[in-house]
Amino acid sequence: MLQLRDVTHAYDGRPVLRGVTLDLAEHRIGVIGANGSGKSTLARTLNGLVVPDSGRVLVDGRDTRRHGREVRRRVGFVFADPAAQIVMPTVAEDVAIGLRGRGLDRAEIGARVDAVLRRHGLADHRDHPAHLLSGGQKQMLALASVLVTEPEVLVCDEPTTLLDLRNRRVIERTLRALPQQVVLLTHHLDALTGFDRVLVMDEGRVAFDGAPEDAIAHYTALMDAGAGAEGGPRT
Ligand code: ADP
Repeated sequence: MLQLRDVTHAYDGRPVLRGVTLDLAEHRIGVIGANGSGKSTLARTLNGLVVPDSGRVLVDGRDTRRHGREVRRRVGFVFADPAAQIVMPTVAEDVAIGLRGRGLDRAEIGARVDAVLRRHGLADHRDHPAHLLSGGQKQMLALASVLVTEPEVLVCDEPTTLLDLRNRRVIERTLRALPQQVVLLTHHLDALTGFDRVLVMDEGRVAFDGAPEDAIAHYTALMDAGAGAEGGPRT
């Protein structure tokens, strides 16, 4: 269970989260909203990558402010750009790195790495240089490297933004099939079909919280209302 209590956050004095209170218990939760509405910052508070200026974020009752390490073991995070996550030369080494410091012996680490690579279609690339993988394979590797640590929750920050439609579908299908709770930030609204709950962020607040189709309608109306008045693109 993820709980946010009156969470605020600012960058350089500019408020980005303005008092967000949520209990997130559903299996599939989507987060949508305009660029700059605070989605990423919200997502990052869920595993302690961002600690709020005020308010609290609790993961199974543990405050991210004081229990960052434990929280990050429970809440895995996948970024939009897999290059931000791939740190080791080969595919297998990259997956294995997440298992360091857990008291597992070499054989156990090897077995877990092989199992996750098989499950996610990367077994044939085990000893290949990670940087030579295709974009879709890199994102799958980033996902596998998080899943091998067996987090209870997976927070995915636009994991399909850089992918073509085919690879996007592969990642979306993979996320749907996971036993874990998933919090998915996305601009691909069709990815949210069947989700239990979708939040719409707007200027650092949760502007809507409900079923996917209602949330998408709210978001679309919000964007249409803003489009005429604003003019050019916003950051
Ligand atoms: P979203 O994910 O909805 O695009 P973000 O949470 O990434 O929104 O960003 C909200 C605002 O905060 C944006 O205006 C962004 O430029 C700014 N911002 C995000 N991260 C940082 C940072 N590390 N330092 C300064 N400003 C940031």
